[in-house]
Order: sequence, then structure tokens, then C-alpha cells
Amino acid sequence: MELQPESDAQPAIRPTQFIVHSIIAPWTARRTYEYWRDSTSLESHFGVDYEGTVGQYIGTETRADANAGANRRSDGTGAVSAETASNTSGSDPWNDKQVEDLIAIGVWLHQTHGLPLRICRSHSDPGYGYHSLFPQWSTSGTACPGQARIRQFKEVVFPGIVARATGKTPTPPQEDDVPHTLGLYDETDRTLAPDKWTTLSIESVDLLKGASIYQAMVQVTGSVPEGSTLQGRFYHLRSDNTRWLGGITERVATAGATFADFHNVGSIKPTEKLRFEIAYFPLDPDDMRAITITTARCRGLYWK
Ligand SMILES: [Zn+2]
Repeated sequence: MELQPESDAQPAIRPTQFIVHSIIAPWTARRTYEYWRDSTSLESHFGVDYEGTVGQYIGTETRADANAGANRRSDGTGAVSAETASNTSGSDPWNDKQVEDLIAIGVWLHQTHGLPLRICRSHSDPGYGYHSLFPQWSTSGTACPGQARIRQFKEVVFPGIVARATGKTPTPPQEDDVPHTLGLYDETDRTLAPDKWTTLSIESVDLLKGASIYQAMVQVTGSVPEGSTLQGRFYHLRSDNTRWLGGITERVATAGATFADFHNVGSIKPTEKLRFEIAYFPLDPDDMRAITITTARCRGLYWK
């Protein structure tokens, strides 16, 4: 979307400033281009619409005409400008996509043209600004880009440019998004005496360590008298041997083998271990016979 003949006909500049505007119209980057092509020559280098599309209409080393005295000074320096879609009174704040686009343009200008990371201290001082910051940047005064956006410029956009250009914005570590799988399987027969909690070993008593967030399920298969109860709960064993106890889940045994499942979602510290304990409560309180767990599985996902 290069604006012609402007782009070829205008004099060169050495860009030292970045000035942001509101165009007082909710236009797409394409519509903004058409406006400048067809209706006025007071164009900007960039147009940022509500959808996150950035149009560039003029090379950043060519003069654009949106900033009056800052377009090109006698020493050949000039401002790079960006128009941003707004409502028709210029009163709405930038949306998140526009903020992101302005930060990206601002960082690019710092990296490509060496714009210093500061808000312009005078109308000719290299740096970053918004249209109404200095009267020399407009022909007859302006409120552009509007109060809400001036505030965003100071509090969000400019600090965002500085943070990203200096590498202080934390880059979200992608690998944190990818979960690891938890898969333990144990066919060792183990007996459970009634009325007491027993930590279940599934390959190991420590089902998980060195994780941060997990989602886990324990499934047990057992020979349990019909109508009696299995209770299970996950717990976090701390390094001082104290415990965080998860909620108890209760399953009632059925005829034949019983298949019971227990779930938890939680977070543990690097020094903590995830364990699971189970208790058997006979239907008849006087029935002191032990039961047998024949298979135990632990399945889940965890994030480091
Ligand atoms: Zn403006």
C-alpha cells in the first residue's frame, strides 16, 4: 500500500522521532490508505487499525506530512508517524491489538533508526511522542490522539517500547505450555487392613516430584466386599515431613472386582512430593479382614 506519487516525490528524512495520532475514524488500514490516496496529502507513514493490521504507506526515510514542523526539519531529521483508528470523537482508548502494534513499531524504530528510548523533551528532541505533545507538531493546535490515548502512551505504550527494546519484557517460555505425561502402573498385590490410611506405592510412593502443576488420577482394581467403602486422597509431602491433604473421594465397592478412581489437580513446590493414600472401610464394622488391591495406575499431566 505504497502511496504514490507521495512516496517518490517527497524529500528524504533521517528519522529521529516517532509521533502517534488518532485518525478520528474507525477505519481499516486499507481505508486509511484510500483516504490519503484520494482525499488529502497529510499522510502518516503507518496506519494501525482496530484489528491489529498495520499499513505502511511511505518509507520511514521519506517525509510524511502529518506532523507539521516535525515532518522534516532543516537539518534533514524528521518524525515517523502512525495514525490509529479511533471513534469519530477520538475519545476511545487503544485496544490491545493497537497497543501491541504501536509497541512493535516503536521497538523497530529504535532498532532500525536508533531512536533514543525517551519521550521527546522538546519539539526537535529525538525520541517518542504523541501529536499534541508540542505545538510545533501541528498547524493550529490539536488534542490528538485524545486524553485516553495520551494516558496510555505514557503508562503503557512508551514503557512497553522501552521494556521490549531493552529485553526486560519477559518472553513467555513456550516449553511451559507443553505438559509432560505421568504414567505409573503397578500390578503388585498389596493388602489393605480396614479403617486405616495406607500410602499406595505405584512403582514408587512418590508419584511426582520436581513439578509445579499437575493433574493426576489414580485408578485401583481390588477385591473388595460389595457395599464396603474405599476412600482415597492425594497429599503433598513437604520436606519437613508435614503434609498438605487433598479432599477425600469415596467409592463404594460393587459385586466382583471393584474399579475405583480418584482425581486431583494441584501445584507443588520443588521440594514437595505428590503421594496418594487409600483407606478401606468394611460394610460390617466388625469385619476385620484385609482386602487386596491387585492393580494400581497413576495417569496424568504435569508442567514443570
Ligand atoms: Zn494527529
